[in-house]
Amino acid sequence: MLNIALFGPPGAGKGTQSEFLIKKYKLFYISTGDLLRKEIKEETDLGLAAKSIIEEGGLVSDEIIVQIIEKTIKNNPDANGFLFDGFPRTYVQAFILEGLMIKLNTSLNRLISIDVPEEVSVKRLMERGKTSGRSDDTEAVIRNRLKEYHDKTLPVLKYYKEKKIYSSVDGTKSIEEVTQAIEKIIKEELSKNLLNIVLFGYPGSGRGVQGMKLAEKYDLEYVATGHMLDEEIRKKTKIGKQIKSFYENGQLVPDEIVVQLIENKIANKEHSKGFVFKGFPRTLVQSYIFDGIMKKHGLSITKIFELKVPTLELLKRLEDRRKSDNAKPFDSSTKKIISRLEQHEKTTIPVIKRYKQLSSVTKIDGTLSVDEVFEKLCHEIETGYKNLR
Ligand code: AMP
Repeated sequence: MLNIALFGPPGAGKGTQSEFLIKKYKLFYISTGDLLRKEIKEETDLGLAAKSIIEEGGLVSDEIIVQIIEKTIKNNPDANGFLFDGFPRTYVQAFILEGLMIKLNTSLNRLISIDVPEEVSVKRLMERGKTSGRSDDTEAVIRNRLKEYHDKTLPVLKYYKEKKIYSSVDGTKSIEEVTQAIEKIIKEELSKNLLNIVLFGYPGSGRGVQGMKLAEKYDLEYVATGHMLDEEIRKKTKIGKQIKSFYENGQLVPDEIVVQLIENKIANKEHSKGFVFKGFPRTLVQSYIFDGIMKKHGLSITKIFELKVPTLELLKRLEDRRKSDNAKPFDSSTKKIISRLEQHEKTTIPVIKRYKQLSSVTKIDGTLSVDEVFEKLCHEIETGYKNLR
């Protein structure tokens, strides 16, 4: 979920920018001003209570605001996220928003302030008043709205500065330039929100099958170094030929090659919702490289799994695969299979240990059926992800 609040004095351009943002990021738009005007038009009790205050340029009571926002949020439980315009407008409303977000098991990602000097606001609102039909777009009311903004709304910024989710853009620039500045901030937020999963486990533990299923279900990019290397071999590229000889000797492919392929994948993350990493990082050195690549691209690991399967069962599975049509180039003999298992124990187990110390690694019983393992993984991801939001 992506929840953004647009902040700024009346006339800063919040409404204009919102139009673009809700389309591009498929957010549900909550403009307390629009909602109030709708209540007034429909002559509801809420509307009647708010009408005179709005006409004078004052702020309506928090009770009314909570009621209209709650109603709107409740009616849209499946929204991709919310874009708030004109809320929170007081320090108290910042706490109210916090409470509403907790109720939805989510949080506000960022408050973006569109900064414009007072005289620009007045000029723009007077201009808008000629066509908007809004009874509060007249000079006397505008001055009062700005006074309310200075007295009651500006303190809201302190709350978000302290929370460190405050950003500002220069609202005197052209509409397009302001849009671009806001987009840049949102992009950064989105990349923090990606779902990045690392799957560990011995060869034969089912990482490949599960990784692909996860990628499909959550619309993630499947980053399997093995696959990527196979692809190079299949395409008979120069790198592919080198890779083939490493494989045939049961050796790991050098980091230079693997890193290059992974970076290419990650660099194209524009439209991705996250990544499933399988078969990488495989050595301690690669784990440092991995942390570096993630950092460089502003990504963080959401969840690390280890699929546990006893060695004898692994051997049985890999032997069966060797004799089947699914045989991989590296399982051409029992000796090679054993060498891969040994290699994993020697080089990859220390990597898992490292991540166990750094964060947490969730163990999953890999002897269960494919569907059961998948169900467990999904359950862990969904509960973990909710906590993160
Ligand atoms: P806007 O469309 O955001 O400029 O809002 C128009 C008017 O609605 C404001 O001048 C206030 O009277 C009222 N209003 C809108 N949002 C709020 C809010 N969050 N708290 C109090 N009053 C609000």
